[in-house]
Amino acid sequence: MSKNYVLGFPRIGEQRELKKVLESYWSGKCDFNEVTTTASRLKKRHWEYQKDAGIEFISSNDFSLYDNMLDMAITLNAIPKRFQALKDEELYFAMARGKQDAVAMEMTKWFNTNYHYIVPELSLEDNYKLNATKIIEEYKEAKAANIKTKINIIGPITFLGLSKRVDRGDVYELYSKIIPVYEQLLHEISKLDDTVVVQIDEPIFVKDLEPKVLSLIKPAYDKLANAANNIKIAVVSYFEHSNEATKILLNTPIWAIGLDFVHGKENLDILELIAASNKTLIAGVVDGRNIWKNDILATQELLKSIEQTVPKEQLIISSSSSLLHTPYTLKYEVNMNNEIKNWLSYAVEKLDEIALISKLFFKGFETLSTNEKALLQANKEANTSRRSSPLIHDKAVQHRVSNISEFTREGSYEERIKIQKELLGYKELTTTTIGSFPQTPEVRHARREFKNGTITKERYEQEMKNYIDECVAFQEECGIEVLVHGEPERNDMVEYFGEQLKGYGFSQNGWVQSYGSRCVKPPFIYGDISRPKPMTVDWITYAQSKTDRIMKGMLTGPVTILNWSFVRDDMKRADVSKQIALAICDEVDDLQNAGIKMIQVDEAAFKEGYPLRKAKVEAYEDFAVRDFKLSVSSARKETQIHTHMCYSEFNDIIQTIEAMDADVISIETARSGNELLKIFAKVGYKQEVGPGVYDIHSPRIPSVEEIVTQIYSLLQVLPKEQLWINPDCGLKTRKWEEVKPSLKNMVEAVKIVREAL
Ligand code: GLN
Ligand code: ZN
Repeated sequence: MSKNYVLGFPRIGEQRELKKVLESYWSGKCDFNEVTTTASRLKKRHWEYQKDAGIEFISSNDFSLYDNMLDMAITLNAIPKRFQALKDEELYFAMARGKQDAVAMEMTKWFNTNYHYIVPELSLEDNYKLNATKIIEEYKEAKAANIKTKINIIGPITFLGLSKRVDRGDVYELYSKIIPVYEQLLHEISKLDDTVVVQIDEPIFVKDLEPKVLSLIKPAYDKLANAANNIKIAVVSYFEHSNEATKILLNTPIWAIGLDFVHGKENLDILELIAASNKTLIAGVVDGRNIWKNDILATQELLKSIEQTVPKEQLIISSSSSLLHTPYTLKYEVNMNNEIKNWLSYAVEKLDEIALISKLFFKGFETLSTNEKALLQANKEANTSRRSSPLIHDKAVQHRVSNISEFTREGSYEERIKIQKELLGYKELTTTTIGSFPQTPEVRHARREFKNGTITKERYEQEMKNYIDECVAFQEECGIEVLVHGEPERNDMVEYFGEQLKGYGFSQNGWVQSYGSRCVKPPFIYGDISRPKPMTVDWITYAQSKTDRIMKGMLTGPVTILNWSFVRDDMKRADVSKQIALAICDEVDDLQNAGIKMIQVDEAAFKEGYPLRKAKVEAYEDFAVRDFKLSVSSARKETQIHTHMCYSEFNDIIQTIEAMDADVISIETARSGNELLKIFAKVGYKQEVGPGVYDIHSPRIPSVEEIVTQIYSLLQVLPKEQLWINPDCGLKTRKWEEVKPSLKNMVEAVKIVREAL
C-alpha cells in the first residue's frame, strides 16, 4: 500500500463536457438522459485517472451536476418552500438557477477561492429527512467500475455555517434537527460494504470560530463516529490551519484528520497531539489550488519533519484540498512555451506527483522503478530550472523593487481635491460610469478574429475606434459629464493587462469551474513582472481626442490582478503585488503625461483576497493598501485618481478603503439602497464616493422617478459635494437597448435633483 489520498477531483470535464451538455439541456436542445450519460462517462474517466496513477483513496460524491452544497441540501431535504412543488432534476436546477416564478437560491464564494456554492436556506419549521440516492448510486457506480471509493460529504458544522436562516435567527439552532439525518445517512452508507471510508469536509474549521460553534464539534463527531461501526470517518479541512477544531476532533472516535500543510503551515504546531491520539493524519502536501509542479525533494523534507513527530504508520499523503480548483491536464497545452509548461502541473499531473511522493516516502528510493526514478529526476530538473531561468528572474525588476523610495503620491487629499475641483471644474453630483459599455457581438467577433489572425491589426484597431466613436458620441448626447472609452478592446479586466505584462502566462485549456457550468481560465504569473510598453495610452488618448469633456483612463489595480491570477509560489504574494504595482504606476504616469486628467484604477477583487484568519488580515491590508497607493504614486496632485469596488461587505474594511486614499471611489450599491453608503458616513469617510444608483444586473430600465428617489436617499447620508452619480458596474454585460434609456434616465434624474437643491 502506498497510502495516498486525493480529497476530490474536478468534474466539469477536460473538454468542458459537463458544461456543454448542461447548457444544451438547459436550452432545450437535449434531454436529461444525455446529461446523465455524460456525467457517468466523466465520473468513470476521473476515477480511472486516479486509479491508473496509483491513488489509493479515490472519492465518490465529489462529482456534482451543479454544486456539492446544493447536493447536500437535497440530501437533507432542505428545500425552500418556493421549489417544493418540483421534483428531481427540475427541482435541482430550479434551486440553482431559478424559475419564472421562483428566484434562484443565492450563490457565494467558497472560502477564498473563485468557486461559488449555492447557499442553503434553512428555517426552524423545515422537516429534514434523508435522501441518500445520489450518494448511494455514485458509490455503486464506482464499485461497478471496480473502484471502491471513499464517500465525500459536506460536514454538518460547515453546512450550517454556510447556510442562511430565512426565518432569521442563528443557523446553528438547527444543529439538533440535522444531526439525526447525518446519522441516518451514515447508517445507510454502512450497508454498502464491509467497511466504508467517509470523508467529511469541514473547511469552516479553518475560520476563527466562536466558542459556541466549537462546542458543537465534539457532540457532533461523537455521534457521527458512532453511527455505524464499519464506517471510518476522515474529517478534512483546507486552505488554512484548523488547530482549534483539530484539538477537539482528536478527542472523538473518528478515524483520521486531513490537514492542509501548503496553506496552513500552523497545522504543524499540532503534530504532537495527533501523534498521541493515534489518529491517522492525512497530510495535504501537494497544492490543490495552484498550477505549479510540486518540489518533490522539498516535500520529502516536509514529510520527514512531520514524521519526527507523527510516525509513518499514522500518515497518509494527499492533495492539500480538492483538485477542483486546478485545471485538468497539460495534455492540451500544445501552444505553451515548453520551458514554462515544464514548471506546471494540473490535476492529472498532480495525481502522479502524489503517487510518486508517497512511494518515495513510504518505501524509499530503491523501490522506485526506472520510470519513476526518471520522473523524480525530471521533477528535480524542472524545479532547478525554475529557480534560475532568465524567463522568471529579471534583475532590472528586482533592482527597481528593492529601491523604491516613494510609495505614496504627493499632497494630502485635502490639498489635492481643492486643486482638482478648481482645475477640472466638475459639478456636484457629477455623472459618470464605471468603465465598460455593452460588448456587442461585433466587438467580440473582431477581437476573436484579430486573435486568430484572420483580420489585420489596422482593421481591428479601426473597428475598436469605431466603437469608441459611437460610445463617446452616445455619452455626449446623453449628457454624461465624465466619459469613458467603453473598454471594447478588453476581453477581461485582468487578462487584458496580463497579456501585455512580461512574466504573465496564459493557458489554452486551463479551465477551472467557477460556478455551475461556468468556468474561468485564470492567467498565471510565473516571473518577475514588468511592462514593456504602455498598455492603454493609445486607446484612451484616442478617446480623449474625440471629446472636449474629461475622458477617464481605465486601469485594473495590482491587488485585483493578483487575486484573479494563479500566482507564483516561489515569492511572497506581497512582493509579486509590488511588481505589478510598479507596472501600473508607470501606466498612470504615461496617461497623465498624455493629457489624461482622471484615471480609474479598479480594485474589483480587493475584498476577495482577504485571508480566512483574522490574525492574517493586517498583513494583507498592509501590502494591499501599500500597493494600491504605489500604483498611483506617480499621479500628480492635479491628476484625479478614482478607484472602484464591487459589492461587498464593507463594514470591516471601510477604514482600509479610506487609507487607500483614492480621490474618488465608485461602489456597487444599488441592491442595498443607501445602506452601504451609511458605512462610509459612519466613519466620517472623507474622499468622494460614487454609489451605484441603479442595479444593472437585470434588463429592467429604471425610471427617472426611482433614480431621483435613490439620489435623495443617498443625499440623506452624504452631502452633495461628496457624491458622484453612476450606475453599478458591469455595463458590458448588458445590451445597448437597455443601457441607453437607463443612462438617459439617470442623467435626467440628476438634472431634476440639481434644480431642486
Ligand atoms: N471597469 C470595469 C467595468 O466597468 C469594472 C468591472 C468590475 O467592476 N468588475 O467593466
Ligand atoms: Zn464592480
